[in-house]
Amino acid sequence: MAIEIEQFMCREDNFGILLRDRDTGEAALIDAPEEAPILAAIERTGWKPTTLFITHHHVDHVEANLALKERFKLRIVGPEAEKAKIPGIDDTVEGGSVIPFGGEKIEVIFTPGHTAGHITYHLPKAKVAFAADTLFALGCGRLLECPPPIMFESLKKLAVLPADTAVYCGHEYTLSNARFALTIDPTNEALQVRVKKIEALRAEGKATLPTTIGEELATNPFLRWADPAIRKNLGMENAADVDVFAEIRKRKDNF
Ligand code: ZN
Ligand code: FE
Repeated sequence: MAIEIEQFMCREDNFGILLRDRDTGEAALIDAPEEAPILAAIERTGWKPTTLFITHHHVDHVEANLALKERFKLRIVGPEAEKAKIPGIDDTVEGGSVIPFGGEKIEVIFTPGHTAGHITYHLPKAKVAFAADTLFALGCGRLLECPPPIMFESLKKLAVLPADTAVYCGHEYTLSNARFALTIDPTNEALQVRVKKIEALRAEGKATLPTTIGEELATNPFLRWADPAIRKNLGMENAADVDVFAEIRKRKDNF
């Protein structure tokens, strides 16, 4: 793969992401949760970012924008719909935008739900997606600015990416998501196996990300609205997909 990715922890449970195109040496950041760990990652890898790609306006994703811009003179790219709330933004993108990056191209997928303008950055050639707070391992983002049908449509866009697409997320929430997922989908053997792996990783203090689209389709209840066993468990055998999704999201909010 021509794209190299350095994932590291910031704040309490945020992920920082530094990526580089091996052929051209071009490097970029996805979100700016905290300055010090980002500087450490740049130092460790030697990859000097020229662009900062922002997924959404929350402070735990943009806090270091101005400090990093000052230090590296980097260009900040973010969602058009949230430009007023993103410090230092230079260029805006929206669903369908294509951004050249080294020998790759980054396609922007509009994935509102967690926030009204949230975007996902997808590199189809490298088969990588940076979904931040839209899709988590075994979870999805809280619906802070949108009703369930909006997030449902966004998750459907991610669900149809190739199954071997690596998905990087905004937070290490996987263990608590796993405990909830078992209440929705208790008979899913793939989920049971995955939860054991997650518990082992967290016991060693290791990250559970990235995940893949295929793994999420098999185990993430927020993508499994059509699954007969889940529908039966919820008593929603004949409900619309979007209503099954909304019910699962509601239960997670109260979990
Ligand atoms: Zn957020
Ligand atoms: Fe976040």
